[in-house]
Amino acid sequence: MNSATKERIFLSPPHMSGKEQQYINEAFESNWIAPLGPNVDAFEQEMASYIGSKGASAVSSGTAAIHLALRLLGVTAGDIVFCSSLTFVASANPILYEGATPVFIDSEPETWNMSPDALQRAFAEAKQQMKLPKAVIIVHLYGQSAKMDELVAICNFYNVPVIEDAAESLGSTYKGKKSGTMGDFGVYSFNGNKIITTSGGGMLVSNNLEALEQAKFLATQARDVAPYYQHSTMGHNYRMSNLLAGVGRAQLAVLEQRVMKRREIFQTYKEAFAEQTLITFMPELPNTSSNRWLTTATLKSEENVIEMIASLESKNIEARRVWKPLHLQPLFASCEFYAHDSSCSVSEQLFKTGICLPSGSSLSECEQSYVIASMEEVFLQNVVVK
Ligand SMILES: *Cc1c(COP(=O)(O)O)cnc(C)c1O
Repeated sequence: MNSATKERIFLSPPHMSGKEQQYINEAFESNWIAPLGPNVDAFEQEMASYIGSKGASAVSSGTAAIHLALRLLGVTAGDIVFCSSLTFVASANPILYEGATPVFIDSEPETWNMSPDALQRAFAEAKQQMKLPKAVIIVHLYGQSAKMDELVAICNFYNVPVIEDAAESLGSTYKGKKSGTMGDFGVYSFNGNKIITTSGGGMLVSNNLEALEQAKFLATQARDVAPYYQHSTMGHNYRMSNLLAGVGRAQLAVLEQRVMKRREIFQTYKEAFAEQTLITFMPELPNTSSNRWLTTATLKSEENVIEMIASLESKNIEARRVWKPLHLQPLFASCEFYAHDSSCSVSEQLFKTGICLPSGSSLSECEQSYVIASMEEVFLQNVVVK
């Protein structure tokens, strides 16, 4: 097939179920075109019941949910917040919104997520300097659960609350628990590229209902109870629209199917390259199940990754590097970083050799075969030339 006429294969495009329109129509008919309404209430309840938390607050983005969690934990100017380094910038930007300072924690090789060893060292030094963090943001990268037992035990020891950035891991489980329910707050994203989407949106979840009430208050401009518009606290305009919550309800109804499909896609890649020594797929921690939001793997070198992405691009296939670690970002150049061990930074290595492959739940068998065949061609060239 000619790549110019072939439709582009995206990394993770939106995948509608067909029921979304019905919820939107209902909202139109009842004129609930507002940042509150029956779909918002129902979506919150359905999310809370799906993941098994006491409550949930629907907001305009995952970033907004992280920001609200930081505010609820009292993070303010001059505070320190520990955060995974190998993640999207949205995990850490809200720390800057509050004038606080992020300290970045490296990954460990088994999950690509926060290293308990590095976290332990960061805490020990912080304790010595009498500057403990106000919160720790733990990311579950590409659907893979971080080593929560070890990480939470360390945070509990120092009595510091945990925010789980589960933006990429909705539907994943860790030892039978749903991803996003193991910290003080959990955060999900419904951005267009995520496993389910409302085009843009997010959810803050917790067992602390009082805190969630406060989140809603802060998300609606912090309006005091008064017969007029009165404000004693700075708020935000962070609530989710009732229209988009309708889309979210229809998407949540098919989440389990979406997880199954993404896991199948992962399995197909893995089996196709079972004999191929030039690629290693992201592992899965025992007793956990990843939603495999994106199939990710490592190649032998950064050069191989660059070549692979360019070659796939020439065939109109979207593949990407893994997140550039935040401690390497110019934005965070002055921030501290704790490596997994003194000899190596795992996140830097994963950044160099990591690749994300097309993984959308709407990817057809035929499309995936085309991606695999295109990758095989590149591997063949690698073996011959190098
Ligand atoms: C997508 C994402 C976010 C932010 O979610 P938005 O809804 O886009 O604001 C936060 N953290 C991680 C790890 C993400 O992948």
